[in-house]
Amino acid sequence: MTPPPEQREPENPLHGRISEALARLGTLARATEQQGSTTQELSPLQARALVTLKQRGDLRVGEIAKDLMVTYGTISAALSVLEEKDLVRKFQDPDEHRAVRIELTRRGSNVARQAAGWNAEALQPAIASLQKEESATLLATLLKLILVLERDGVIGQARMCVSCKHFVPHGGNSRRPHYCGLLQAAIGDSQLRTDCADHDRAPSKQLGAVARAFRVVG
Ligand code: SF4
Repeated sequence: MTPPPEQREPENPLHGRISEALARLGTLARATEQQGSTTQELSPLQARALVTLKQRGDLRVGEIAKDLMVTYGTISAALSVLEEKDLVRKFQDPDEHRAVRIELTRRGSNVARQAAGWNAEALQPAIASLQKEESATLLATLLKLILVLERDGVIGQARMCVSCKHFVPHGGNSRRPHYCGLLQAAIGDSQLRTDCADHDRAPSKQLGAVARAFRVVG
């Protein structure tokens, strides 16, 4: 009898071990988030919504839902609670009168800053123990993994170099192998951005090409 999908061994044992290692980090992230949000009397989703607004500025409700990979109804309910707690406020979208945008209040901005640090606090000591080259390789490898997950629609979109239309993989020099067309500067693996305000999403054809061409240099 064929076992259910969740009990099947991955075809490549190495891939299975990578998945398990990432799942361990995911468990830590969830536990840290749960602990931090309970302290602030928030749900983890409400805390994540605050962090998203802190990183991205004011957004439409649908944009927050997409970013956090939840339904419109789920995020609307979470935002209503945040509004009651005076952590966010709604205002009319100047570009479309029927649409509503959400922004952080001053109090919300303070809580979001703390929430953004919860995972960093837990992981920083371990990350700091890595060699410089190991850190750069890890960053570039993780970004490539996220890019493929984004391309396949499995994860929300981040403002990373590798998904930016200005990014040219291996368009730099031997020390800094990649290139940013906007900054007109070569960038190394360790300088790849995970949340760049100048990010401009590349068309899907370019994303596919980057996912194939991008190699971690270290
Ligand atoms: S604009 Fe920002 S995200 Fe885009 S390639 Fe340049 S540094 Fe990276």
